[in-house]
Amino acid sequence: MQRGSATTHFGFHQVPIDDKQALVDDVFRNVAGRYDLMNDLMSGGLHRAWKDALVTAVNPPAGERRFALLDLAGGTGDIAARVIKAGGAGTRVTVLDINPEMIEVGRARVQQHALAVTFIEGNAEALPLRDGSFDAVTIAFGIRNLSRIETALAEAHRVLRIGGRFLCLEFSTVDVPGLDALYDFYSFNLIPALGGVVTGDAQAYRYLVESIRRFPAPEALARMMREAGFARVSFERMTAGVVALHSGWRL
Ligand code: SAM
Repeated sequence: MQRGSATTHFGFHQVPIDDKQALVDDVFRNVAGRYDLMNDLMSGGLHRAWKDALVTAVNPPAGERRFALLDLAGGTGDIAARVIKAGGAGTRVTVLDINPEMIEVGRARVQQHALAVTFIEGNAEALPLRDGSFDAVTIAFGIRNLSRIETALAEAHRVLRIGGRFLCLEFSTVDVPGLDALYDFYSFNLIPALGGVVTGDAQAYRYLVESIRRFPAPEALARMMREAGFARVSFERMTAGVVALHSGWRL
């Protein structure tokens, strides 16, 4: 295939769209071993409450009833472990992630706790999965790393069964006067420094902060979801807009 001239953003840099994935892969390869620890440190543990809100929305059934969840960009399996814990014996989670180092950390976690989780190394923009094969599809803090968000949304819609739900948890836009300046100071100064000390890669966490600022506002993401075919699209801001949880259905 011929390389196109389209560009996208990698943090605050504009890069050829075909180059972004390798840059993102470098980020997660470097931080995989310390990824979960860094989430706790930089969010003061708040990421647990945000992820719990996502799991509550997924609402896996109790008991034997079969429930298949696909967690896109599922990394170290944190969402998968939480959904398995919340659901009954019929709950199965497939984690798809492009990064083998993140998956390796995830596999060690599910083996340690004997969880019903399957890992697939793959790209959220081209899912190696059958149409209509999942009851729910989630993506947590993953969508802003993708090069082609519209393509991934269409793929998520394709693999959902009719009546299935898509949920997206992602950093968003803080627009509370006063708090936004404090949040900027924390984000641009403290997070990269903390990332440097804990993972040895301050640049990875500079990318994280910049990518949050470049990510579409909640209304724009909701519009993209509708364009991908999702119905009854809604979103909820949490923690003064630090994160947003989007929901849409395949009808
Ligand atoms: N969902 C996990 C969580 O909440 O802890 C991990 C989120 S982590 C910030 C972003 C993940 O997106 C990384 O594991 C990265 O490898 C993955 N990723 C990036 N590009 C991807 C792609 N094109 N397809 C699938 N996964 C991708």
